[in-house]
Amino acid sequence: MARVELTSLGKSFGTNEVVRNVSLDVPDGEFMVLVGPSGCGKSTILRMIAGLEEVDSGTIAIDGRTVNAVEPARRNVAMVFQNYALYPHMTVFKNLSFPLKMGKEKKSVISSRVEEAAVVLGITELLDRKPKTLSGGQMQRVALGRAIVRQPSVFLFDEPLSNLDAKLRVEMRTEISRLHRRLGTTMIYVTHDQEEAMTMGSRIAILHEGDLQQVDRPMSVYHEPANRFVASFIGSPSMNFFEGAIEGDRFAAAGIGFDVALSDCPAVLGVRPHDFTLVEARSAAQPLFPRDGIEAVVEMVEPLGSETHLHCLLEDTPFLVTLPGHHPHDRGERVKLSLHEDRFRLFHGETGERLA
Ligand code: ADP
Ligand code: MG
Repeated sequence: MARVELTSLGKSFGTNEVVRNVSLDVPDGEFMVLVGPSGCGKSTILRMIAGLEEVDSGTIAIDGRTVNAVEPARRNVAMVFQNYALYPHMTVFKNLSFPLKMGKEKKSVISSRVEEAAVVLGITELLDRKPKTLSGGQMQRVALGRAIVRQPSVFLFDEPLSNLDAKLRVEMRTEISRLHRRLGTTMIYVTHDQEEAMTMGSRIAILHEGDLQQVDRPMSVYHEPANRFVASFIGSPSMNFFEGAIEGDRFAAAGIGFDVALSDCPAVLGVRPHDFTLVEARSAAQPLFPRDGIEAVVEMVEPLGSETHLHCLLEDTPFLVTLPGHHPHDRGERVKLSLHEDRFRLFHGETGERLA
């Protein structure tokens, strides 16, 4: 059990600054997900925590102890990678017991810990098998087991599910979450997949080009994104953006205009596909936002059964509207939409900073 504190962490490879001033406090027992696009510095941060990469600036503390100069084996962390890296000539039992044997544990301790881990992961019947006879999901369970037997105070996961097919990936998500509940150990989980982050993290930390953008619970990040990057990265289908400007207390983008009490600047309106409502011609009394609604052209209709996706066009801006249920619309049809007044977001057109 341990708290992990990163303070002003920085790392460069040559002139390439890949981690910038990252501070992150992961309390004991938390499941923290580090998420961001490929190349944003996630693995580098994880490797620094594990001690596999040197820190250029800032500090890493585990359980209150600064570990910058502590060798990997003495940090009491276990890392699980995308590539399972099992020993091919050893049985599953031997693969699982190997780290303990290296640590000179007693035979009785080794076998009880291996058996316990095998039960937790449901791989007891695989203990005599060699890795090449296992499926991808089974191999990843063995890799997890190899981390569990060490009873680390922190688990570090680097995209452990990326090699598995879509269905298995979803199953393993649940398994890792269950494992976290069962063990209660601090876990830091890296992924580029926002859906994985949203479903697994107690909190998620969003990283972009080496900079930490926001740290919060998944739904808080979804509803209150700190900036345009977070708004566009989190949520599926993703948020729509309409480029415009604020001038004299009024926001205007192509085909959308409303009053806002903000100072003049280039601005971008962000609306999630679910936050539009379709205005029926018959219900003329319905209050609209903006006042005259938004007139768009339907370019494509995607009936998904429980909901309908309308791919629309507003002047030159394509955007997506998600409506519950079935909607018999046609290509080229004009529709009138209204926005959910509390849910749209405004961002600065240049800095991407959240304005409203
Ligand atoms: P992520 O895991 O988010 O995809 P990484 O942390 O692996 O990103 O990499 C961040 C950046 O650092 C990338 O631009 C990558 O090319 C670079 N990088 C990572 N490791 C090294 C290294 N050992 N030498 C040079 N550049 C590296
Ligand atoms: Mg990586």
